Amino acid sequence: MSDLIPWICAQLDEDERVALAVRDQRWVYRRSYDNAADQTDHVLIIGDRAVGADFGDDPLRPTEAEHAALHDPARVLAEVAAKRRIIDRHQPIEIIDALYCTHCGVLGGQRARDVNWPCPEILDAAAPYADREGYREEWRPDA
Ligand SMILES: [Zn+2]
Repeated sequence: MSDLIPWICAQLDEDERVALAVRDQRWVYRRSYDNAADQTDHVLIIGDRAVGADFGDDPLRPTEAEHAALHDPARVLAEVAAKRRIIDRHQPIEIIDALYCTHCGVLGGQRARDVNWPCPEILDAAAPYADREGYREEWRPDA
């Protein structure tokens, strides 16, 4: 279980690395109606490029464009920062012979509740990355 925090941090580092590479681009979903073609286009705007309007027989679907826009790099970076703050609050601490969460299971340096390490918040922080290499089944929140 001691590998959990470094593993989550590595996932966040990877999310941050990818988002930083495109942080100058806003990802925006836009729907427009073409009167001449009597057609509604669903377009993902990445920076100054419209993506998805001219894919011929395989156009970007509206839900795909909306979903991609929800993962705008600025949002990903904000999410990474928020998760790091959560992780900073939830750290393991050993009391006697067991590990507890500094936030969930300890008060004034004493074990306050039976929330052992890793706490549910940390397991939930790791869960979105369950498909990535290194994730352990023992980290699954419902395991
Ligand atoms: Zn906790």
